[in-house]
Amino acid sequence: MERVFNFSAGPSMLPLPVLEKAASEMLCYGSSGMSVAEMSHRSPDFEPIIQKAEADLRLLMNVPDDYAVLFLQGGASTQFAAVPLNLMPEGGKADYVVSGQFSGKAYKEALKYGDAAEIASSKADNFVYIPFVGRKDLREGTSYLHICFNNTIYGTKYNYIPDTGDVPLVADMSSCILSEPVDVTKFGVIYAGAQKNMAPAGMTLVIVRKDLLGRARPVTPTMLDWKTLADNGSMYNTPPCYTIYMAGLVYEWLLSIGGLEAMKKINEEKAALLYGYLDSQDYYIAPVRKEFRSMMNVTFVTGDADLDKKFAAAATLEGLKNLKGHRSVGGMRASIYNAMPREGVEKLIGFMKKFAAENPKA
Ligand SMILES: *Cc1c(COP(=O)(O)O)cnc(C)c1O
Repeated sequence: MERVFNFSAGPSMLPLPVLEKAASEMLCYGSSGMSVAEMSHRSPDFEPIIQKAEADLRLLMNVPDDYAVLFLQGGASTQFAAVPLNLMPEGGKADYVVSGQFSGKAYKEALKYGDAAEIASSKADNFVYIPFVGRKDLREGTSYLHICFNNTIYGTKYNYIPDTGDVPLVADMSSCILSEPVDVTKFGVIYAGAQKNMAPAGMTLVIVRKDLLGRARPVTPTMLDWKTLADNGSMYNTPPCYTIYMAGLVYEWLLSIGGLEAMKKINEEKAALLYGYLDSQDYYIAPVRKEFRSMMNVTFVTGDADLDKKFAAAATLEGLKNLKGHRSVGGMRASIYNAMPREGVEKLIGFMKKFAAENPKA
């Protein structure tokens, strides 16, 4: 069976060399005589795997020593609770920008733990842009500002980093992590589920400035307390060993192609091809405002729900899978993460042209 181009928003494609390496090591990793999937997390074989994964990630993202790197379970959604529990004291405040569905969920979760406020939202405009916020928008005494850096469902991305002064900036980067360099020092906390751009599902990356550790409320579940997790090298309990190994292979692959600057260049080229085509015709409409277009998730519609449905079904038959938009917004979405080859984008554009020619609008 031939491999397809999988445009899923997550879990999503992995680089072919990574899958091949994992396959070659599936039965026996190095001289261990066993698969990584069978290995004790406290064994001398696994220790170098997690240590190298962390070292390579630090290298790729240029993570300074005063930040802890955690490989956890629970997905990005668990961090929606962990963030307020670790950073907002009892009776405290936290500010949120709601720029899509996941940031809305993060905000709702924080409301359970205290005085969370939505200080800006693009909901009234169907989330087609990112609100601009800065220091003057933050409430007096707020514990942090939470943003979602790339909105997976709507296909928007921050084109700036909010200046929050001394207030820690917390960013959900699940769908743009490792797609381009970011200045980690501008953030107090960065977190991301692995399954979009990093590894199979099952791991959550948390990068947290060390001075923010140790502030968790007493009621915080031990498994959500970043300090406990950092003090134990992400091994307070059994970490997602196999996913950490796969993430490590992805980090090695990224380093081998030249790191995040090189990755960014490739991603920019792929996105420019697709947006360039969208801008050159009027059969498909790309709803997102140009300056906030995501490089990872490209959304478009025909304007006719039946045609949209037909599009996704016909594309599947051509080996272009999972182009249906999120169930809450409809239309189409092409997720073109790091592992999507340029040929996948070229084939998609060819299909879009053919579909438009064969399905004139009424
Ligand atoms: C997918 C996604 C989530 C949810 O991730 P889980 O790991 O499934 O909890 C949260 N935020 C963003 C931006 C996402 O893309």
